[in-house]
Amino acid sequence: MSFLQDTLSIFKKRELMLIEGYKESEDVYTFLFEKEDNLSWKAGQHGLFTITHKKIKNNTRALTVASAPTEDTVRITMRISANPSEFKQAMLELEPGMKVKMAGPVGSFYLKNNSPTLLIAGGIGITPFRSIMKQIVAEGNGIEQPIHLLYLDRKQSYLFKDELDAIANSPSISVTYLESRDELYQEIDTFTTLSENTGKYLIAGPKSMVDSITAYLKNKNIPKQKIKKDAFYGY
Ligand SMILES: Cc1cc2nc3c(=O)[nH]c(=O)nc-3n(C[C@H](O)[C@H](O)[C@H](O)COP(=O)(O)OP(=O)(O)OC[C@H]3O[C@@H](n4cnc5c(N)ncnc54)[C@H](O)[C@@H]3O)c2cc1C
Repeated sequence: MSFLQDTLSIFKKRELMLIEGYKESEDVYTFLFEKEDNLSWKAGQHGLFTITHKKIKNNTRALTVASAPTEDTVRITMRISANPSEFKQAMLELEPGMKVKMAGPVGSFYLKNNSPTLLIAGGIGITPFRSIMKQIVAEGNGIEQPIHLLYLDRKQSYLFKDELDAIANSPSISVTYLESRDELYQEIDTFTTLSENTGKYLIAGPKSMVDSITAYLKNKNIPKQKIKKDAFYGY
């Protein structure tokens, strides 16, 4: 998606009606919204979501659309801790039938499957990869190059594990669940060697984690054009 398309898309605001919200794990919640027929996105992109049912400061957040465009809802999944921001408190107050605004979709964080690709998720950074993996399945698994998802979660709560395991049951897609940075770096090294520098890298998660993995890859002489990043602020 070009910069121009992103700019046009950002001005396209629409209201989305909540179907349901539920808890995924200890501090992670999913919200499912109705999807209008004329709304689509590329798997991995995000929207800018705005609270409208009450007045709060900083009422907008970038959030990945965690559903695939072929699914029939707009899904957002977010970490909400015990002491949430006003934005997240307002999200928790949403009842079915209430609305938020969404601008977008925007961003270039999506798959171009002409190279072996390593997807690297840290914790809540799994959201774009749920969408990407679901879309691969919806398109009939016709991928030309191997895709390997590395999912690092120190708490081992691994969101969407059942869905990911079902998708990974295919020769060109694999998922590895990891608990430590050392394990992650070993897996990255293996992929880099096997893909003989033809590989691409998509990294999503808390900004500090995305920054340190990017630095690790650059240190291994991976050119920055081969790395796409979605850095989540605030974690
Ligand atoms: C492309 C993209 C996709 C995202 N997808 C998801 C998702 O799927 N799920 C999810 O839970 N989160 C996602 N995020 C993160 C989300 O937008 C919020 O930043 C995060 O949830 C924290 O929000 P908060 O209300 O808890 O904290 P906040 O109150 O927003 O922020 C906490 C701290 O972060 C700092 N901060 C916030 N924004 C910025 C910024 N832009 N630059 C520098 N510092 C900043 C604040 O100053 C504050 O100190 C995504 C972010 C991006 C950029």
